Amino acid sequence: MTLTPESRPSRTGAGPIIVVGAGIVGASVAYHAARAGAPVTLIEARRPGGGVTADSFAWIAASRLDSGPAAVLRTTATDEYRRLEAELPGLPVTWSGSLSWRIGESAPELGPGRQLVDADTAARIEPALRQPPEWAVWAPDEGAVDAVGIVDRLITGARDHGARVLRDTPATAVRRDASGRVVGVETAAEFLPAATVVLAAGVSTAALAATAGVTVPVEPSPATLFRFRAPAGLVRTVINTSDFDLRQVAADQLIAAADSPEPTLAAIRSTFRAADSVELLSARVGDRPMPADGEPIIGPAPDAPGLYLTVLHAAVTLAPAVGRLAARELVDGTAEPSLDGCRLDRF
Ligand SMILES: Cc1cc2nc3c(=O)[nH]c(=O)nc-3n(C[C@H](O)[C@H](O)[C@H](O)COP(=O)(O)OP(=O)(O)OC[C@H]3O[C@@H](n4cnc5c(N)ncnc54)[C@H](O)[C@@H]3O)c2cc1C
Repeated sequence: MTLTPESRPSRTGAGPIIVVGAGIVGASVAYHAARAGAPVTLIEARRPGGGVTADSFAWIAASRLDSGPAAVLRTTATDEYRRLEAELPGLPVTWSGSLSWRIGESAPELGPGRQLVDADTAARIEPALRQPPEWAVWAPDEGAVDAVGIVDRLITGARDHGARVLRDTPATAVRRDASGRVVGVETAAEFLPAATVVLAAGVSTAALAATAGVTVPVEPSPATLFRFRAPAGLVRTVINTSDFDLRQVAADQLIAAADSPEPTLAAIRSTFRAADSVELLSARVGDRPMPADGEPIIGPAPDAPGLYLTVLHAAVTLAPAVGRLAARELVDGTAEPSLDGCRLDRF
């Protein structure tokens, strides 16, 4: 999509930017826009990182072999996290690599950054495997994050660049003036004026956009995160199989993104040696913001000048790239070619 003068996001000089929603997406947009010199206010209904970001498995799944706009962004995901690590020391990223396999299937086509490994190599990478798979896909450059820790670090970084952060401040509506231009955000307590409003409110984005007369086709897509007590060092990497996504998050804890608890527990015990003591600690369902076609919705709302949308799936993987690219569009008024496939007007 070409950004016309009407749909182009406001430049910094034209006034303040309000980012609504302090999940990993909104925190990244706020950090990158503030770092680029924009006056930014980030408003959050509850506490930063308290939305679905808190329930994420949080794998930087960069090398999945998909096509489409999100796949283009995925290829940059690990580089974008490494850039962010350099900018924000102490960012909670673990570069463990990921190991994927499917029993009974033939090995897939390999994308960049992936290697096909045999059973011996898989056993060296994950020594506790009872029966290493005949083949596995090893992505040594991948990793995972503490997603709430990333939000906290982005917000500290945004504040260091002058951003204001308001928690416990739900936006109730986006206000437009008589000409149709977005002029700010209503909250329960006050009206907050802005030249540009960025909606990064996850599953609430559609309802907020509707207050400005804009339809955003995004629905909640539930997924469950399980937490298990487990022996230290049972799992070394991010493991992806048809049973679960699994990784160790503490000496005595694993997390898994999976369908249901009992089969997942059984699969963990049958996949790893010394896993009989593994036990379920908790299960939490998170509503992932899922655009109707699964691809990100990023960019200005064509019929509401001053409104900018950032709603997407696999946002832990994509947040550093999306924040950087969106901030460049917001601050410079330029159109980023890598976001061309992400515009709202494709629907
Ligand atoms: C089980 C599970 C596993 C997952 N695994 C992965 C994975 O491995 N890799 C990956 O990349 N992704 C994964 N995801 C998806 C990922 O977690 C989400 O894509 C991402 O967290 C979405 O971030 P967000 O900032 O858009 O949404 P959120 O984190 O929900 O942030 C939106 C924020 O907006 C706030 N808000 C809402 N309404 C308002 C309002 N009116 N005013 C002010 N604030 C408001 C909310 O309180 C919230 O804090 C997983 C998700 C689940 C549930």
